[in-house]
Amino acid sequence: MTATAPDPESPGQPPTNDTGPQELEPNQLPHTPRRPIWLCGTCATEWPCLTVRTLLPLDYYDSPTALHVYLATLLQEAVEDLTRLNPDPGPDPQRMHARFLGWVKPWLDITRRRAGGPD
Ligand SMILES: [Zn+2]
Repeated sequence: MTATAPDPESPGQPPTNDTGPQELEPNQLPHTPRRPIWLCGTCATEWPCLTVRTLLPLDYYDSPTALHVYLATLLQEAVEDLTRLNPDPGPDPQRMHARFLGWVKPWLDITRRRAGGPD
């Protein structure tokens, strides 16, 4: 049935930085990449982590092309960083593409379906 569909928690809205320091739930922490290793600073998993993959399609709901451009830019930077760290053999291009861009279209579709919008 829905075994292949990711089922992240619905955070409702992206995190904001205007509330000052306070206790935050894990899904409200800024899941920014730690460079040059490109692991999430919060989850310590490969960036973009599950939280980022959930939040970015919401942030870019009306501008999916901008999301692709944004992630393509970060993909380029990540490949450069990871190649510097480990030049031989370096990051696998196919895997890096899947990691940064391969998930975007399916997740945008899921986000749209949950929002009840048209395909
Ligand atoms: Zn994270």
